[in-house]
Amino acid sequence: MRAPLPCFIDGQPVTTHRTFDDVNPATGLVTRQVCEAGRDEVDAAVAAARKASKGSWRERSARDRAAVLDRVADGIDARKDEFLRAEIEDTGKPMALASVVDIPRGAANFRAFAAQLRTLSDESFTTVTDDGQEALNLVVREPLGVVGVICPWNLPLLLMTWKVAPALAAGNAVVVKPSEETPQTATLLGEVMRDAGVEDGVYNVVHGFGPGSAGEHLVTHKDVDAITFTGESRTGSAIMAAAAPSLKRLSFELGGKNAALVFDDCDLDAAVAGCTRSTFMNTGQVCLCTERIFVARSIYPAFVDRLATLARARVLGDPFAATTTMGPLISRTHADKVLGYYRLAKDSGLDVVCGGTVAEAPDGHGGGFWVEPTIWTNVPTGHALLREEVFGPCAVVVPFDDEDEAIARANDTEYGLCASIWTNDLTRAHRVARAVDAGLVWVNTWYLRDLRTPFGGMKKSGIGREGGRWSFDFYGEPKNICLRLR
Ligand code: NAD
Repeated sequence: MRAPLPCFIDGQPVTTHRTFDDVNPATGLVTRQVCEAGRDEVDAAVAAARKASKGSWRERSARDRAAVLDRVADGIDARKDEFLRAEIEDTGKPMALASVVDIPRGAANFRAFAAQLRTLSDESFTTVTDDGQEALNLVVREPLGVVGVICPWNLPLLLMTWKVAPALAAGNAVVVKPSEETPQTATLLGEVMRDAGVEDGVYNVVHGFGPGSAGEHLVTHKDVDAITFTGESRTGSAIMAAAAPSLKRLSFELGGKNAALVFDDCDLDAAVAGCTRSTFMNTGQVCLCTERIFVARSIYPAFVDRLATLARARVLGDPFAATTTMGPLISRTHADKVLGYYRLAKDSGLDVVCGGTVAEAPDGHGGGFWVEPTIWTNVPTGHALLREEVFGPCAVVVPFDDEDEAIARANDTEYGLCASIWTNDLTRAHRVARAVDAGLVWVNTWYLRDLRTPFGGMKKSGIGREGGRWSFDFYGEPKNICLRLR
């Protein structure tokens, strides 16, 4: 057994007395122990971050900070194989995915915010008052100080660096609480930070759980200025309540129940391929995944047939094998939740077009959390599978008769993260995109991202936006300096 995975505090690996299991979801086996941070370690991490937030990191020029962030990106690239192994062990996701999405995007996040930092400009207003005084009003940004970063398990490095890169670019120090399911890449990033010249205390990692553990200690800590959180909507609600007494600034990226709207004038091959990808990528465990597909009635039978064919063609296998296109679910608990929906679908009489149960495990992976890619039809309005986020490799497909009905059905949810529209009518694309309640709408594509754009959800899918200058709005404190000229 390998040494327990340490926390990373004030530039050093830190071991603790309490440990928990890190389980490989492809096999169900424990890969190593992880050091859990208690209140003392969280206090130490926050104190280190506070000290660093007042030190030279904040004082560095934007140009200098950007250069360090680029070196962090280079460091991730240089240790790509280690990051890949750690991420695949923790998540079970296929190499084919992690090597083109997760790890490269971890590096890209640092480069994108370094580039943004170089071009960010302050605002100024020339002011003349009624009695003839003149002033120059500057708007500058100060760092917030200490930012707590709480992350989920589905895209561990990608989503963590999406927050850490802009927080550091803006001159803050961070304390990261990775998911208890996927702790390894956060500690590894600590080594990369140190080697890239990030001062001790600027980047800290505390491992552990939510309630009664590192997550709660961080959220309630009086010396943490802001919490940026990605995870379930109900966890966001608990964090908001716990953070209320200390009035922290909050940014929430939460759950989804995303729709695809497929119109009869679409390129059917592209729509089917796009919906296959948006339903099954990362075994359906991406907040942006599609779980509801609304299809024009005239093309509905052909669409369902072709989607099921592509679903059945997913290759479940050893995550490290090049041929594998679908991995397991993250944990036994999550598999139980997803299979609960599979049972509900069967018991409530939905048509199971493909899948619908536990999958046969690949050779040597019998203890893993494997489920079948699944498509359901014949779903009554109001059914739980049209309302609740499953976060698994599955979707319901429902026919519609006209555009108004498609929009109404897409909006009939408490969530509003993203949507995809498949049509060759440009006017319709624009009209429907404006009418759908979602923070991000794709037309004839899915998961095509530009990191300069705002990312976040409407309704219960989130509060605030991150990405590009919107991240700097969250991670910075705007300050007005008024210089009297006359
Ligand atoms: P989760 O809410 O269970 O856990 C997320 C993190 O919060 C973990 O690190 C966990 O330890 C911590 N946590 C849990 N309870 C806490 C508490 N009371 N106080 C402080 N920390 C606490 O989410 P998950 O299961 O890890 O991730 C899946 C969810 O994340 C899905 O709902 C998915 O849609 C959502 N998600 C959203 C986005 C987005 O950008 N909107 C991206 C990825 C995932």
